[in-house]
Amino acid sequence: MTETQPVTVIVIPQPTVNGPLHIGHLSGPYLAGDIAARAARARGERVLTLAGIDVDPNYVLTKAESLDTDVADMVTGYRRQIESAFELAGIGYDVFLDPQDVDYQQAVRGLLRELVESGRVPMEDVTLHRCSDCGRTLHHSYVVGKCPICGTGANGTSCEGCGGFTSAQILLDPSCARCGGSPEPMPVTVPVLRLEDYRDRLVTEWLRADWPTRVRSVLRQYWDAPLPTIPLAYPTNWGIECDGPLEGMRVDFPSELGFSYLYGPARALRPDAATLAERVAAWDEVHGVWHFNGMDNTFYFAVLYPAILAAAGVTNPTALGATVNELYLLEGSKFSTSRNHALWADEYLSSEDPELVRLFLSWDRPDRYETDFTDAAFRAFCEYARPLLDATTPVSGGLPGPLATAELERAEQALHLSGFDPALAIRGLLAALSAGVGVDAPSYLALTGRAPRESTGDGH
Ligand SMILES: [Zn+2]
Ligand SMILES: [Zn+2]
Repeated sequence: MTETQPVTVIVIPQPTVNGPLHIGHLSGPYLAGDIAARAARARGERVLTLAGIDVDPNYVLTKAESLDTDVADMVTGYRRQIESAFELAGIGYDVFLDPQDVDYQQAVRGLLRELVESGRVPMEDVTLHRCSDCGRTLHHSYVVGKCPICGTGANGTSCEGCGGFTSAQILLDPSCARCGGSPEPMPVTVPVLRLEDYRDRLVTEWLRADWPTRVRSVLRQYWDAPLPTIPLAYPTNWGIECDGPLEGMRVDFPSELGFSYLYGPARALRPDAATLAERVAAWDEVHGVWHFNGMDNTFYFAVLYPAILAAAGVTNPTALGATVNELYLLEGSKFSTSRNHALWADEYLSSEDPELVRLFLSWDRPDRYETDFTDAAFRAFCEYARPLLDATTPVSGGLPGPLATAELERAEQALHLSGFDPALAIRGLLAALSAGVGVDAPSYLALTGRAPRESTGDGH
């Protein structure tokens, strides 16, 4: 690795602190992002991994209110559990995006203020909506309705059915999710990102990047339909408070995430950067961004975040691609926090061998289709895999030796970002181990998390 080699930014999404992580979450973007980053480093590539937590969606306040508990105490507890899960699972990062850090908050509010003051982001008269009964600004968890594209029930963030953008302004039959009240118009003057103004740049990004088929089908909708205009901040009761000309507003949380991906690389590559221009300059070293995320966030990682980077002045297209996942079931039904139908990651990793948990979740990864975690399968996997991991000689009935090199090669190739397939990698690796080779293979170290990591930032 050389300092002149361009950096690939890998984004492990920031979990919202409205609950702990369960192993369904781990099986999706979290472990996958870590494995991909470790494998890329082992190939000598320069990567910068961003991880963190998300405190500013109003889902957090909604959760605390529904539990009738103090929101700060709740955030502290869930944060501790999430960080513990990261630690136990061996999920590493170079920059931890921390909305409770004053430097992060000042950076986000400063970036938006500079964008408005420089005229890169216009102020516009728009009509948002508030609840006519409880007065809440209807955004994100405060509003429910039906997706205007596919008709699935959705809140004011995105549609789990089709992955499209939703908001109080476009949902069909919207109502207040907190009290059931009707929306009433709320005229405001707020900073907006007119995504339609960035269509040419976005089309370049969409054509250049390596997207899974399901992501392409969401983008196909936006190819023909007008792109929405996104209010970047507005008056409400949760989120990072703005200052200067935006006093009285709070930053929209998905927009904050977009700003966090502008802030993160500079934090590692130009630690002294304090202005918009200095943070944008860090992108001279960046080759592009690869997101690990759930399908329902497609609009954000493929449309909004690249547009925010473009608006900030990052001149080159930034989207390299994404790795998405489907749902992971638990013993045949959806993980559910409210029904306590979950295996909490921090508790599970404390009571089981984290290496086998990592390997099994890769083996059973819900990527091409929904898969189902069962305790019986996990136990059978442990019994099968543990002796192979410990083997130093071929096991009886294992793979014929001459085939082992090809299996290992396939495992290594399956961990490239393009075509990333850890389920294939673990199968190839286990086969090679059964032939008595592979314990020093980069794929072994990446999948188990055993590799000693080189840090390029302030992570562990
Ligand atoms: Zn209401
Ligand atoms: Zn939909």
